[in-house]
Amino acid sequence: MRTSVELPRRVAVIGVGVLGACVGWNLSRQGAQVIFLDADRPGEGVTNWSFSWVNASNKTVRRSYFDLNVAGMAAHRDLADAIGPDSWWYPSGHLRWAGDAAAETKLLETAELLAGWGYGVEVCPGAEARRRLDPAVAIPGEVSVVFYPDEAWVHGRRLVGRLVGLAVAAGAELRSDTAVRDIGTGADGGVRTVGLSDGSRLDVDIVVNAAGPGAARVAGLVDRRLPMRREPGVVARVGCAQVPVRRPLHAPRIEIRPDGDGSVVLHSREVDALIDTGEEPAELARLLHDMGQQVVPGLGDSRVTAARVANRPIPADGFPSVGAVPSVPGYYEAVSHSGITLGPVIGRLLAAEILSGKRDAMLADFRPERFRAHTSHPPG
Ligand SMILES: Cc1cc2nc3c(=O)[nH]c(=O)nc-3n(C[C@H](O)[C@H](O)[C@H](O)COP(=O)(O)OP(=O)(O)OC[C@H]3O[C@@H](n4cnc5c(N)ncnc54)[C@H](O)[C@@H]3O)c2cc1C
Repeated sequence: MRTSVELPRRVAVIGVGVLGACVGWNLSRQGAQVIFLDADRPGEGVTNWSFSWVNASNKTVRRSYFDLNVAGMAAHRDLADAIGPDSWWYPSGHLRWAGDAAAETKLLETAELLAGWGYGVEVCPGAEARRRLDPAVAIPGEVSVVFYPDEAWVHGRRLVGRLVGLAVAAGAELRSDTAVRDIGTGADGGVRTVGLSDGSRLDVDIVVNAAGPGAARVAGLVDRRLPMRREPGVVARVGCAQVPVRRPLHAPRIEIRPDGDGSVVLHSREVDALIDTGEEPAELARLLHDMGQQVVPGLGDSRVTAARVANRPIPADGFPSVGAVPSVPGYYEAVSHSGITLGPVIGRLLAAEILSGKRDAMLADFRPERFRAHTSHPPG
């Protein structure tokens, strides 16, 4: 029988987006034998179709959630020190302004609250923000702009590639295009095996459910009900000869950020609201492109290169589900919205919990046990 100090022999990480990659890399570097399993290719899920803004300024709904996101920002900086920042980490700061007086009052109240919590916040007139920070962005001169200097954006797919590459070089195994179809348990209800779409079966001691929008289905494989919201979003990538924006920004109707070489990412909650009206992704992308050009006229020469609707992986109460499920020994969850911001901190905390059995107080409000009910049948 395994004790708390003995390393688990084999850990199957189910799903290799930002959360699975961060958990698996942390486990691997501490000596665990990790097998990454993905139904598709690593980093090509929601992680690649995210606005990918690293922040805690949008997370004031609960103090413990804000604190976890602040820890996420710090964990990104630590990760950049550990593996090198190139090609995935962009600590650029973030700009936001509002479209009317009521929204501006709310924005400034939030900025004041955040400053009181010790968060980096600068407020300046639009004209100054434009001159000093982002000259190509049509910020109205008279509005109040909030600049969050410690926020950032991440190239999620490249981060996943980097972490998985390092783990594989250190002995981890990667199986892409391989879905987990079932999880076998022993007489004590503990995890023993995973059955794969290629017909093979692996002996494992631990599974980590990091399946993003597919997490409820994977939870059902151990007869667990993980209630999830349905909250789809659409992101468009736009190709341009020269990227006209320097950092992520929230204009009143649209969010825009650079995406590395010759590319910009566009997202809008207003356009997300049209997804369920049956509008085609190409039309949603056209709307995003039109809105983007109103804020960044330099996007006039750009063209949409790709667009995708993805479902946010959000447990029903809006908060992450991270940690062990005591009724199923060996089964752990790493399921969260804001996974780009939270990946490195969740990866560190969950790997420590798996290897030492110790539960970090920072995750107290985000434990899987708050969703207690079991399914009578795994979801189909
Ligand atoms: C429009 C939009 C905007 C967003 N903006 C932000 C933002 O600005 N900042 C932020 O922090 N977060 C943001 N998010 C959320 C963030 O992108 C996600 O929380 C994060 O990417 C989730 O990563 P993941 O690893 O859990 O999921 P994914 O990246 O989807 O990875 C899950 C993987 O699991 C695999 N999988 C599923 N089922 C199985 C199975 N049975 N067997 C094997 N593999 C399986 C899939 O193939 C996939 O590769 C946004 C999300 C959306 C949709």
